[in-house]
Amino acid sequence: MKCCFCGNNSSNVVETRRTDDGQIVRRRRECKSCEKRFTTYEAMKPYSLEVIKSDGSVEKFSRDKLVKGVSKACEKRPVDKKKIENVVDSIEATITEDNRDKISTEIIGEMVMERLKELDEVAYMRFASVYRSFEDINSFKKELEHLNSEN
Ligand SMILES: [Zn+2]
Repeated sequence: MKCCFCGNNSSNVVETRRTDDGQIVRRRRECKSCEKRFTTYEAMKPYSLEVIKSDGSVEKFSRDKLVKGVSKACEKRPVDKKKIENVVDSIEATITEDNRDKISTEIIGEMVMERLKELDEVAYMRFASVYRSFEDINSFKKELEHLNSEN
């Protein structure tokens, strides 16, 4: 989403609101470059987005499913509902920006992990162990070490 002040291409979503029918999403964004805020109105295409699963089968994108998946990883962790909604909002925003009509569960999984990593390490590891099939125990260990070295 291009900043209308400086033309920079990346922005953070500060706030997301939906119209009553859920078809139009209004987002308040902050430019990562000049830090000015602007508003975008995006038409959601929830019924046209298809998710390609790892076995090759295709299903309709479900926001509820995504919320459930993220919530499960955050169980008993200090991550409230609002933060989980924000994670899902930000993923939906990215998909909308990319103008995709198909997306693989793998890419969605990566997007979730990217965001959980910043939010809660335990939730991140839980999610990662389910969604990313670590090739072997060593790559799992490496990931752990990588996490620890970031602290
Ligand atoms: Zn800007």
